[in-house]
Amino acid sequence: MESESNEIQEIRQAVRQLCAKYGEDYWLELDRKTAYPTEFVKELTTSGFLTVLIPEEYGGAGLGVLEAAAVMEEVCRSGAHAGACHAQMYVMGSVLRHGNDEQKKTYLPKIASGELRLQSFGVTEPTTGTDTTSLKTTARKEGDNYVVNGQKVWISRIEHSDLMVLLARTTPKENVSKKTEGLSAFIVDVQAAVGNGLEIHPIESMINHHSCELFFDNLLIPAANLLGEEGQGFKVILDGMNAERILIAAECVGDGRYFIDKATAYAKERIVFDRPIGQNQGVQFPIARCYAEVEAASLMVEKAARIFDAGKPCGAEANMAKMLASEASWHAGDVCMQTHGGFAFAKEYHIERKFRETRLYQIAPISTNLILSYIGEHVLGLPRSY
Ligand SMILES: Cc1cc2nc3c(=O)[nH]c(=O)nc-3n(C[C@H](O)[C@H](O)[C@H](O)COP(=O)(O)OP(=O)(O)OC[C@H]3O[C@@H](n4cnc5c(N)ncnc54)[C@H](O)[C@@H]3O)c2cc1C
Repeated sequence: MESESNEIQEIRQAVRQLCAKYGEDYWLELDRKTAYPTEFVKELTTSGFLTVLIPEEYGGAGLGVLEAAAVMEEVCRSGAHAGACHAQMYVMGSVLRHGNDEQKKTYLPKIASGELRLQSFGVTEPTTGTDTTSLKTTARKEGDNYVVNGQKVWISRIEHSDLMVLLARTTPKENVSKKTEGLSAFIVDVQAAVGNGLEIHPIESMINHHSCELFFDNLLIPAANLLGEEGQGFKVILDGMNAERILIAAECVGDGRYFIDKATAYAKERIVFDRPIGQNQGVQFPIARCYAEVEAASLMVEKAARIFDAGKPCGAEANMAKMLASEASWHAGDVCMQTHGGFAFAKEYHIERKFRETRLYQIAPISTNLILSYIGEHVLGLPRSY
């Protein structure tokens, strides 16, 4: 991008070089085995890219979401699956903004060095879904501990994480004046919890995202692990969500550019009826349209990141960036499939894997309908629809 600083261009270049060591065959093999990219995530962490958002005083680079977005975009553009590691970037923000001094000193330097992995956050539940404030997992204070009971679903990367930020209800919904109150966030030591009140069941799913079901049965969490104030956990989680949306939108831009690169290259080289298929407008125009869509989405990602980094409210821009980018990458994935004809279905072409992976982002971490209802209500002032 022409307006980009030298620093961001250098970040992009360095991330590209790192990703080039882990070619698409690496990702295909992991996908086949539903294995985790341990070496890749380690290198991305120790080289400082996964920790760019951690302030310098805690061992990170102290950069903004604009720089972090460039990292995630390049990871996805290389053909990698950023879903294996992206949460470390934004979950850390909950500890940074809401943790007390002790928690920040304990966790952030170790997250920055790679000694501790904070890759997991537990919000979604099987029976309540998007209706987060109705979640049923409870945390009851007993002496120096909270006792947690309940269930979560789709909690990603927990088997590859040392810590999880968990959202649970500490005051029943009927006893609070606003339904967003009475929820609390906790830092959970995953290794200590497994077998002592936490059971993890992997979910077999369409993409290699390492998502699991969690069962809590009287899990004890030390009261010192409460993140922020008791009853104010919704804010703790919500605060990280705009960063999450912007970063995932950047990943979608990376996916979109990956698909356009692939489709363009193939349309130039594939000869059918004695000419490159890209000479046919029926093949060329859909790729050109996707290019325009991805470029436009990229501008919205940049706008949202700049507002976020300036510390101003960016809910509308972060949501719009996420919606536009996820739709642009999905269209580009579809056009890339179509351009490759039958070969799109061959795993060795890698497109079908990326096609599956990029589809997720119209559903998680927030679905397109919920973004539209946010715009309708909060931007346009229309009546709340739910
Ligand atoms: C691979 C994967 C990884 C995930 N990782 C995590 C994770 O690490 N941590 C975590 O906490 N969660 C995670 N999730 C969960 C994810 O955030 C949810 O799936 C998502 O928020 C949607 O919730 P739901 O699946 O319960 O859908 P539901 O809430 O049941 O919604 C189903 C459909 O109905 C629509 N809908 C619902 N209500 C309305 C309404 N009022 N108006 C219009 N449309 C509506 C939705 O848009 C959606 O299309 C993950 C999910 C997946 C698939």
